[in-house]
Amino acid sequence: MERIIEGTIIYGDEFEPIDGQIIIEDGTIKNIEECAVATDTIIAPCFVNAHTHIGDSVIKDPPYLPLEELVQPPHGLKHRILQETPKSSLVTSMKATIEDMIKTGTCAFSDFREGGLEGVSALKEALNDTEIDGKIFGRPVGKDISYLDVCDGTGLSSTGDIDMEYLKYVVERTRNKGKKFAIHAGEKDPSDITSAIELEPDHLIHLTHAENRDIKSISDAGFPVAVCLRSNYITRSGIPPIKKMLDEGIIVAAGTDNVMLNSVNMFSEMEFLSKTNIYDDRQVFMLCTLNGAKLLGIDNEIGSIEKGKKARLMILTKKSNNLNGIRNPLSSLVRRGRPDDIIGII
Ligand SMILES: [Zn+2]
Repeated sequence: MERIIEGTIIYGDEFEPIDGQIIIEDGTIKNIEECAVATDTIIAPCFVNAHTHIGDSVIKDPPYLPLEELVQPPHGLKHRILQETPKSSLVTSMKATIEDMIKTGTCAFSDFREGGLEGVSALKEALNDTEIDGKIFGRPVGKDISYLDVCDGTGLSSTGDIDMEYLKYVVERTRNKGKKFAIHAGEKDPSDITSAIELEPDHLIHLTHAENRDIKSISDAGFPVAVCLRSNYITRSGIPPIKKMLDEGIIVAAGTDNVMLNSVNMFSEMEFLSKTNIYDDRQVFMLCTLNGAKLLGIDNEIGSIEKGKKARLMILTKKSNNLNGIRNPLSSLVRRGRPDDIIGII
């Protein structure tokens, strides 16, 4: 089935605003034609949220505790609450978060899911019948690695929290199954960065305290990095050197991290990145779309508006009270766009 939509298109991997039409056939972008249009819409690629913990949807307003007391396994607040939450409540709350992601313009996300096979299956149940590509990085319980058969890989807390022999066992099993491995590093201090790099992960999370030599090694090895800026602020972990990482050619993508700390609304992440850190609208938009797709290895399908990619698009109106009178659609989207400017999602 063919469908044609028109407006100001945030086009290609450079996110250049052009007026024109997008011809969609069976969910794929068949063609993009530049032409004059009679509508007041902006058509943008949907977001990719590069790092979440949506199991935390069961706790949305924790006290302002130090990072370790909040999230460190096994006794951090989130782990205690997750343990006493029945599976049905967990699935219901994760499902609400997934619906929230879709309504706020996200078409794919990458989640670190605790609780072994049971934890992964709860998220799979929440993802059932939804229009979002949820990548799941599960976590072992003891030596049980059965979760690997039903998800995308392993996502671990930090080399500082885990016995190195055990960690190597888990990484090796993950690789043997042909799955991906990702790990947090350098969130509260730099002590776990070198050991994380040595494990040759598919991607790293945070790098808040990455020093120049770490950035160089990560760049040389070609590991993508998910940064979670709002999360780093609320946990008072520090400010990641995002610009330096980008300048060194690292693929940096943005994630909203724990639902306990932040909403999954990528417009909020985008505005925060643009006003506290990057000051380059094109780069900020890239962190929230194309680079997330690259980090997950799905940039041939989504992440930008290009011929041949899937039509995962959001349509916004320039006539909302918020966007009325804008002159630069990309900058406005990045610095002030909101979910209520969206009038349609494909
Ligand atoms: Zn995380």
